[in-house]
Amino acid sequence: MAQGAGHKLHLEGLELQVVVDLLLDGPISRADLARRHGLTASTVTRLVAPLLKAGLIREADEEPRTGKLGRPSKPLSFVTETRRFVGIKLTADAVAGVLVDFSANVSASAQLPLLGRDPEAVVDRVAELTAELAGGESIAGIGVGLGGNVTEDDTVQHAPFLGWHGVPLGDLVTARTGVPTAIANDVAGLTEAERWFGAGHGLDSFALVTIGAGVGYGLVSNGARVHSPDYGVGLLGHIQLDSNGPRCPQGHIGCAAAMLSDWAIAANVSAGLGRPVEFDEALNLALDGNPVASGVVSSSGRALGRLIASIANIAMPQRVIISGEAVRLADVALHDLAAGIDAHREPLANDVDYVIEHSSTSDWARGAAVIAIQRWAAPR
Ligand SMILES: [Zn+2]
Repeated sequence: MAQGAGHKLHLEGLELQVVVDLLLDGPISRADLARRHGLTASTVTRLVAPLLKAGLIREADEEPRTGKLGRPSKPLSFVTETRRFVGIKLTADAVAGVLVDFSANVSASAQLPLLGRDPEAVVDRVAELTAELAGGESIAGIGVGLGGNVTEDDTVQHAPFLGWHGVPLGDLVTARTGVPTAIANDVAGLTEAERWFGAGHGLDSFALVTIGAGVGYGLVSNGARVHSPDYGVGLLGHIQLDSNGPRCPQGHIGCAAAMLSDWAIAANVSAGLGRPVEFDEALNLALDGNPVASGVVSSSGRALGRLIASIANIAMPQRVIISGEAVRLADVALHDLAAGIDAHREPLANDVDYVIEHSSTSDWARGAAVIAIQRWAAPR
């Protein structure tokens, strides 16, 4: 680690933009950086000098010739190993965490059961898991993601699964660990992970739909995530997708929750078969040609297609990313999904660009880590 890499740099304005450019798109030559930001080469040189000195960026080995005079210029790249971040996903009964570098590459993951749901017990577990993941290394930031609303000051306004209202979780974890901590809605974290390091990287706009225990939605427009206090309340959950579908617990017929949630698909197949089956078994039965399971899974796949078409039609994103624990539905019912999109898309419109992202539980924790990385880059 270069000397000076450990202490905190204060990045803002152009310096911050250059650092983020190098982190996301590097290596980049000084000339290209100058072009991107409408600067002179000497301004860029002056701008990056303290970053080079701090060991945050370095000159890459290649020496491409740039400019008419062919003056060699080594491209700059971000040094991703200089700092480690911890991302943690809170659920009703566990804390799951990952250790990542600046590029959100996961180098370790771990999980601990939650022994109680009061804030103090949860903060203890978060601190314990962070220490375990850090293994004695210093941590530059912690990100915690959870299903619920989070305010700008890292307070959990509303997290029904924990029974929390107005818990200043960011302050509590920072005080307990001594590490700057950012709190975010879990779908917001996953959206940011896609925006910086995933299938949304480089796009001006994209939408993220997650299916699992619920239906999550994130939207990026003009290169930035659309912020809303309603992240985490499940805005898409009760959109009707099938007028002949089953009811959700709130009484809607064929809404997204009733058609796409893993528990709903399992319940619908169980009801048809007269015996309890889990979500994965329901999909396996559908693959095996079981008529009951096939019918349910086919309807759900078509409903997912309708939801994607609706998002594409209304929000007009460049891409729709499908993710979440129940994303296997999209694979198993791919034909129905495509048919559902076609049926609800104007034929003259461009094809919907959709991507199925095979995610795991640790991706939620990684999303929280990306929030911590972003906070490091642009502290509040
Ligand atoms: Zn509903």
